[in-house]
Amino acid sequence: MSLRGKILAFFLLLLAALMLLLAGLVYRSTFDHSLQQVQTQLGFAHRVLANELQSRRQAQSAMAELIAKDFTLLGEIADLVASPQQEAQSLSAALESFASRSQAGFALVLAPDGLVLAGTSAELASGARLPWNGLLNEAEPDSAERLVVLDGRVLHVNLTPIFAPRPNLMGWLLMAFELGGSHLPDSQEVFRFPLQGLEQVALRAPLAGTDGDLQVLLMRSLSAELAHYQPLQWQLMLIFAAALVLAGLGALWIANTVSRPLAQMVENVRRIAGGDYQASVATAAGGEVGLLAHEFAAMQRGIAEREETIGFLAYRDPLTELANRNRFVAELQQALLQCQPGEGVAVLLMDLDNFKDLNDTLGHEAGDQLLRLLAGRLQELLRGGEQLARLGGDEFAVLVPHCHPGQVVPTAEHYRAALQQPFVVRGISMTLNATLGIALHPDHGESAGSLLQHAEVAMYWGKAQRSPYALYRPELDRHSLVRLALMSELKSAVEEGQLSLYFQPKLDIRARRLLGVECLVRWIHPVHGFVPPDEFIPLAEQTGNVCALTRWVVRTALAQSRAWHDQGLGLGLKTAINVSALDLADPGFAGYIAAQLAEHQVQPGSLVVEITESAVMADPEQALGQLQQLCELGVRLSIDDYGTGYSSMAQLKRLPVHELKIDKSFVQDLLSNPDDDIIVRSTVELGHNMGLRVVAEGVETDAVLQRLDQLGCDIAQGYLLSKPLAPQAFAEWLAQTHWGLPRLSA
Ligand code: C2E
Ligand code: CA
Ligand code: CA
Repeated sequence: MSLRGKILAFFLLLLAALMLLLAGLVYRSTFDHSLQQVQTQLGFAHRVLANELQSRRQAQSAMAELIAKDFTLLGEIADLVASPQQEAQSLSAALESFASRSQAGFALVLAPDGLVLAGTSAELASGARLPWNGLLNEAEPDSAERLVVLDGRVLHVNLTPIFAPRPNLMGWLLMAFELGGSHLPDSQEVFRFPLQGLEQVALRAPLAGTDGDLQVLLMRSLSAELAHYQPLQWQLMLIFAAALVLAGLGALWIANTVSRPLAQMVENVRRIAGGDYQASVATAAGGEVGLLAHEFAAMQRGIAEREETIGFLAYRDPLTELANRNRFVAELQQALLQCQPGEGVAVLLMDLDNFKDLNDTLGHEAGDQLLRLLAGRLQELLRGGEQLARLGGDEFAVLVPHCHPGQVVPTAEHYRAALQQPFVVRGISMTLNATLGIALHPDHGESAGSLLQHAEVAMYWGKAQRSPYALYRPELDRHSLVRLALMSELKSAVEEGQLSLYFQPKLDIRARRLLGVECLVRWIHPVHGFVPPDEFIPLAEQTGNVCALTRWVVRTALAQSRAWHDQGLGLGLKTAINVSALDLADPGFAGYIAAQLAEHQVQPGSLVVEITESAVMADPEQALGQLQQLCELGVRLSIDDYGTGYSSMAQLKRLPVHELKIDKSFVQDLLSNPDDDIIVRSTVELGHNMGLRVVAEGVETDAVLQRLDQLGCDIAQGYLLSKPLAPQAFAEWLAQTHWGLPRLSA
């Protein structure tokens, strides 16, 4: 039962109970009162009746005595006694006149012995004897009277002696009045009974001076008496009804002032629980309920504000104020739901190249500023319906609804335009590079999660390929799916001989003679087959396995060099190995190299250590120490992937390096891309100015080689000569190549 119902029921029931009780009491007391009233009235009436009867009987007795002394009567009686036959007639006539004068029923004259002589009664003719025993004896010597019933009539009979004169009894005079006198009854009885549906109160009393079979019954209707109280009862009922209605209305009002705001608040709490904070809790109620509602509204506002903040934090990237990953995923899910058949949804994932180095070099504040600048530029490029988010770090994502496969590349180009102009941070102008990975619904994924994951796979692949953007292909995924598994297997791969070294020749451009080989690691996984180094080297760096791997490369490369040397193969070729930033952080690294050189009896000058530009820049101080030690050993040092990082010539100048390797991304399209030509030319010039030899990797055509020659580049490496080859294959290639071998004297 609701609170409202309870309040209402309580009030009404209480009132009804009270009124019933009151009505009962009133009825009881009016009834008792009425009954007593009726009884008193009846008693009074009885006394009045008794008095009336008494006085009538006294008057009648006096009348009878008077008549008994009447001379006319005495004369008539004397005549009758003298001649009984004639005179009864005239005596009866005289009695007749007496009776009518005194309003008696009848009158008789009796002989002294009690026999009727004459009279006016039909029942008691002359010669009859009185039916009332003892009345005569009672009268001797005076008069007597009594109430009797004769032939259904109540009579007051009066017997008076007739003297002629005293003490000679001449006879008796009997006068009978209808309804004679009586005495006050000694005992009376009151009782009630219904009569024609009405309650009656009756008083019954025996009439004194009778044989006892004569009783008086006085009656009064109690209902009639009670009827006096009828208006009072009606009024009471009216008052009760009014009180009930008023109490009901009042209870309803109170219940409403309490329960309606409460019910409203309950409703609002439900809505708040459902996430709707706009519902107003405002209520007109005053008092405690109003206060409660007020506090409640304050709480609701508080929750709404916090929710808004949480929502902002949960769905916004605080640095750029763009949508964050959660928001992006939600929007993507929405777009997928609304996607019509035949339409596509594209996810573009943009990841800056070498942002970590830049961050380390310029500081995090500058990095943040750069991200904000980029976010602003990307936002300006947004077209209708497209959405931008920062997924974290240097990763941005664009959601392109209604996208067809043909629009993917133009869209990627559209957003890459954000990188065209250099970014100016702290007065330094710099050009940013980024890789875009693209996945397209429905071809590349059904869900937001798989689309994002595939865009990421494409992006990593694009990075590995050094291409500005890459569209997802299912083949790419094979690697990303096994990445996690590979992480744990890498260590055992080194120990179990799953790794092998491939060799790629380097050419002295000017002399057109072979100069050395670069050792490139290969992993043939027993299950996954060939795993490209671009994929597992970063893994090895992340898991800290790369140092073990590098040491394996060092000893394998030197052992192979020793073996070929012993076989008289490729004499004078230098051996180049790749090391990562972590190796430079390993304090025993230079010592290990020295030990291995000694063990395999390889001249330090025959070993080239290639370090990527970004590895050096990760921690230049630390790198410097190791590089110096290596340099002191006599090992030659080469800066790999030059041009993709953010090192300045000023920084490079401090390092004891001998060689710059221009990244293949600048070399491959050297002839078709004038920018690349400028970069290569200036790098060659700068390198030479610093006393460094310049290597170009990724040389695939003879034309590129010619151009490099023109530009003064020293060394070439690439598919033009050979792809990296397994040891046996390299030995065979070496035996039949037209390129000349190093001059041993050099
Ligand atoms: P990198 O040091 O720049 O190696 C050159 C990469 O370019 C090699 O890829 C090589 O196969 C490829 N390449 C050579 N000539 C051409 C060409 O004419 N055209 C094209 N398109 N590509 C060419 P690979 O062997 O897949 O190695 C990839 C990267 O893996 C290497 O880049 C290097 O950074 C890393 N890496 C390979 N082996 C090792 C290693 O033993 N230790 C470490 N730390 N890194 C290694
Ligand atoms: Ca290399
Ligand atoms: Ca390289």
